[in-house]
Amino acid sequence: MNTQELIKIEDDYFINTFTRQPIVLDHGEGVKVWDIDGKEYIDMFAGIAVNCLGHNHPALVKAIQDQAEKLIHISSIYYNEPALIYAKRLVDKTSFDRIFYANSGAEANEGAIKLAVKYTGKSEVISTVESFHGRTIMTLAATGHEHYHEPFKCILPKGFINVPYNDIDAIKEAITENTAAIIVEPIQGEGGVNVPDIDYLKQIEEICHEKDIVFIVDEVQTGFGRCGTLFAHELFDVKPDIMTMAKGIGGGVPMGAILATEKVAGAFVPGDHGTTFGGGPLVAAAANAVLDAFEEENLLDNVNEVGDYFIEELKKLDKDIIADVRGKGLMVGIELTKPGAEYVDKLREAGFLINCTADKVLRFVPPLTITKADIDKFVKALDEIL
Ligand code: PMP
Repeated sequence: MNTQELIKIEDDYFINTFTRQPIVLDHGEGVKVWDIDGKEYIDMFAGIAVNCLGHNHPALVKAIQDQAEKLIHISSIYYNEPALIYAKRLVDKTSFDRIFYANSGAEANEGAIKLAVKYTGKSEVISTVESFHGRTIMTLAATGHEHYHEPFKCILPKGFINVPYNDIDAIKEAITENTAAIIVEPIQGEGGVNVPDIDYLKQIEEICHEKDIVFIVDEVQTGFGRCGTLFAHELFDVKPDIMTMAKGIGGGVPMGAILATEKVAGAFVPGDHGTTFGGGPLVAAAANAVLDAFEEENLLDNVNEVGDYFIEELKKLDKDIIADVRGKGLMVGIELTKPGAEYVDKLREAGFLINCTADKVLRFVPPLTITKADIDKFVKALDEIL
């Protein structure tokens, strides 16, 4: 079938949700992907910050193949070695003490909020305007986009309060006797690559400690090296009570996790939470391979070096249409003075995959293996197109 015929299947059969780009992707290698017509693209989007090792990294492919031949799935009522080994490896790299696996970012955030509610016995959660925490009913309530809430207002749980991002006074005003948790992205992704003031998270941490409120960082997008440290909250020198992650952690397989301190984690008892697929052997084997690559391939050095170079090169673009260039590591955005959708199309036609978020922000979250030479090609194309 050709592209038009395949896309028509979506039109005829799918529940209408995504507005997709009109290409059918077929295979990838490193930072490149090809569509079914053989057209090549540099992937500046990495499946929304997922394919941290690039596409089809040989060690990741091999780990998945080897594990698939041994055991793909067992019930989570039994132990499996890859998930146990990974738990120890990951937790030991953080300030947290315990882990629970999930299949997606939304599911990790659901579990995190449940844990905070169980720990405190309270029922209010503060989140930020323009934040994104997921599409399930509870994470939708936490997500700070009014227009996503609108059709579901009648069923959204009460107790979620959205306050402006990077505004500590707004948080102080929103806190009540009944506040269970504050959930924030260390850098907002969907909201437009918004980097907060350097002391924002520290101040949240202090308030949370003072009032015994659970401090949750949502590292689903910022995590796994994207911002130049394994987790972005490390940049702000804080120790949250809970961290959620997904996306990059599995390098492309559906893997997520909730990490918590001993104190907070202890609130859950058997029966409080569960999952059929979370931390299954296949995805855990993949996650171990991703972690191996981080340890063996100096990925964080690459993120910092190429990320800084990328931002510098973008800042050199002298265009009236550019209102701001911002980001950290390889999570980078350009805010335009007008809606950006047409530039996404033009760049795709020129062989580069990006997306536009918050209407006017062109967002770039490429594989963490991207090189300066790839960046040069992209910036040249962007320069011409803008
Ligand atoms: N949190 C953040 C910060 C995200 O960026 C996203 C997805 N864009 C999610 C949660 C939800 O993740 P998922 O789509 O895997 O449920």
